[in-house]
Amino acid sequence: MKKVVAKKKFGQNFLKDRSVLYKIIQSMPNNTNRIVEIGPGLGDLTKELVKYKDVTAYEVDRDLYSILQVEFIKELDSNKFDLILGDVLDQWSLKNSLYDGKYDLIANLPYYIATNIILNALDDNNCENIIVMIQKEVADKFTAKCGEKAYSSLSVITQLLSKEATTLCVVPPISFEPPPKVDSAVIYIQKDLTKSLNNGFKKFLKVCFSQPRKVLLKNLSSVFDKKQLQIIFEEMDIKPTARPHEVDASLYSHIYTKVTNNGRKYSS
Ligand code: SAM
Repeated sequence: MKKVVAKKKFGQNFLKDRSVLYKIIQSMPNNTNRIVEIGPGLGDLTKELVKYKDVTAYEVDRDLYSILQVEFIKELDSNKFDLILGDVLDQWSLKNSLYDGKYDLIANLPYYIATNIILNALDDNNCENIIVMIQKEVADKFTAKCGEKAYSSLSVITQLLSKEATTLCVVPPISFEPPPKVDSAVIYIQKDLTKSLNNGFKKFLKVCFSQPRKVLLKNLSSVFDKKQLQIIFEEMDIKPTARPHEVDASLYSHIYTKVTNNGRKYSS
């Protein structure tokens, strides 16, 4: 096979450390869901995944798509493997889901769109579990618990939509070819499919965490009436000096319900 030159614009860092591949495989949930892989690349992870389950993969790079078509000819013929050429975010805009039935997302994601991909997967009702490699800094934001430095709007969204969100392992740059500039991490999110969040609440969270080091009350006062907020905080026993990372995820839902019920529906 001709040597493949990694394309930076597609976030191509191919995972070479097989121990990380096995760690991902070992963490696969024990269910009959299909697997959706985003960015199969040269197919190293895909080769392991198809041994256990049926896989649908989305690859945006036409050159890699052609290589994968040859490499997985048997699996494609037997319908164990379905390979789609295109931008995965377009698929979500067109169809709201990456697969028609229940699926688990397992992938070494392109980092430049990793946050968007995870947020879409959290919203996708057919997706039950998410096991993905992303930049460690972003991984920390998704999995942080209340009180931790990395606790952010992404942590709150994840906690409200999942039963579990943890980091499985940290992966150094040397495990990839070419090596990325930063550490990576594999995270596992088991979703709670009974839960959903509306866009108004997500916008509200952006306001809450707009200045993470300032107090929450100050951030919220840029949009809502300060006196009313003070009453709500007192009713809910939240200190007026609390910073955004010190407030539990469930309290954010309650604050939102109260500020919107008070006739100040957040709509910007
Ligand atoms: N899975 C391979 C591995 O572990 O070595 C490659 C992972 S590499 C970090 C990211 C992959 O995502 C590349 O194959 C890249 O071409 C693909 N990709 C980038 N942007 C994409 C997009 N918008 N839609 C689908 N695939 C994309």
